[in-house]
Amino acid sequence: MKVDKQQKLAEIAGRVKKCTRCSLYKQAVNPVPGEGNPNAQIMFIGEGPGYHEDQQGRPFVGQAGKLLDRLLQLIKVARKDVFIGNMVKHRPLGNRDPLPTEIESCRPFLDEQIKIIDPKIIVTLGRFSMNKFLPGEYISKIHGQARFVDFRGKKWIVIPMYHPAAALRNGKIMKEIKEDFKKIPRFLEERIEEVKGEKKEDSKEQLSLIK
Ligand code: URA
Repeated sequence: MKVDKQQKLAEIAGRVKKCTRCSLYKQAVNPVPGEGNPNAQIMFIGEGPGYHEDQQGRPFVGQAGKLLDRLLQLIKVARKDVFIGNMVKHRPLGNRDPLPTEIESCRPFLDEQIKIIDPKIIVTLGRFSMNKFLPGEYISKIHGQARFVDFRGKKWIVIPMYHPAAALRNGKIMKEIKEDFKKIPRFLEERIEEVKGEKKEDSKEQLSLIK
């Protein structure tokens, strides 16, 4: 039987709910596995749930989430059309940074979500998700730039952006995040064209193999 993307994501959410791999679950009110369109072309990856996300079990619903909503409106992308996930799925208390061990414990969930959704572009929000794909890079240097990344045997486009919470604290970052977001539609278009080209090349290769 063919298990569809929605079911596979729901199955991951079920496992996140029962997860005890690190201790974050102990103080969390709700798990926040991530949400959105299973066929999303754009996947956003934040850091981890804050107070409001923990209360509601949904990603980016607090102040940073409201800004994310406004940034999506700015580029005329509906929230229901994207997928929003996080590096860790339970709230680090007091909104502290997630520990490397917590990120590592949660990694399989996020990796599986990426593989299932198979987005055209991945937009990382903040340094933790940027460093998942681009270790050693600095967000102040590379924000708003699309990078090719090899991840789990496949080529991905990753666009690092500042975290919306940082933009709420700093007017200069707010300006920059808006400019970076405005580039998303063009990056997506380019990637769609590129994938079409890759598919054509693949089918040409297959034809020449058949010959
Ligand atoms: N910040 C994050 O990184 N993720 C959320 O879900 C909310 C705030």
